[in-house]
Amino acid sequence: MSDTTTVRANAKCPICGKPRTAQHAPFCSKPCRDRDLLQWLGDGYAIPGPAAPQNPDPDIYPQDD
Ligand SMILES: [Zn+2]
Repeated sequence: MSDTTTVRANAKCPICGKPRTAQHAPFCSKPCRDRDLLQWLGDGYAIPGPAAPQNPDPDIYPQDD
């Protein structure tokens, strides 16, 4: 059985470049993971491909009256 918890030596955190950890892969630590998330939420990354379809269908938003 292969050891999937082994961190690859050449795998580095894309945020700071430190060796990533299996716990926070593909990042090295929680702060880097959070920072990456913030970049996604902001304009740090350009997201290729079509945007998620947004259909404000009343059927999926049942009105409680
Ligand atoms: Zn990092």
